[in-house]
Amino acid sequence: MEMTLKDLKASAKASALSRGHDMKRFHRDSYWTRTHLSACRRCEMTAYVCENPMANETNIFGPAVAQNCDGKGA
Ligand SMILES: [Zn+2]
Repeated sequence: MEMTLKDLKASAKASALSRGHDMKRFHRDSYWTRTHLSACRRCEMTAYVCENPMANETNIFGPAVAQNCDGKGA
């Protein structure tokens, strides 16, 4: 089953949240226009979702979904 962009954003946000991040809203990247990005309000780690990824691409990536929030600036 294909995930919609909305599903991808929700999934990325949920996995960042599970690592302690407080993510801002996603916005479309101005250069990689198939990519939408968000950053944590506390540590500024980023999470990305890719629309229509190629077979060899991951559709959710970025430090905020791979590392725990370090809470700097909180
Ligand atoms: Zn964070």
